[in-house]
Amino acid sequence: MESCKHGTPKMRFCFQCEREKDPEFDTGAVIKKLRARVHELERELKNIAEANYRDWEDGMNRPSDFVAWAKNRARHILNVK
Ligand SMILES: [Zn+2]
Repeated sequence: MESCKHGTPKMRFCFQCEREKDPEFDTGAVIKKLRARVHELERELKNIAEANYRDWEDGMNRPSDFVAWAKNRARHILNVK
């Protein structure tokens, strides 16, 4: 597998390479952003995993409604149009 001079595989993000390209590169800020994104994704996954669609009171409580809802939530969090 091809890797950078730091030994990080090319398809992965190398903080050292980024810092060499841009001395102002802020590792802490990137980690903070990634943590926030992981938190967001986890919250949405938990939301979908714990959804009890049979109790939904809007009449949209068939399994097919749940699938549509779950796919919608997933697309939304992935920013897929
Ligand atoms: Zn590197």
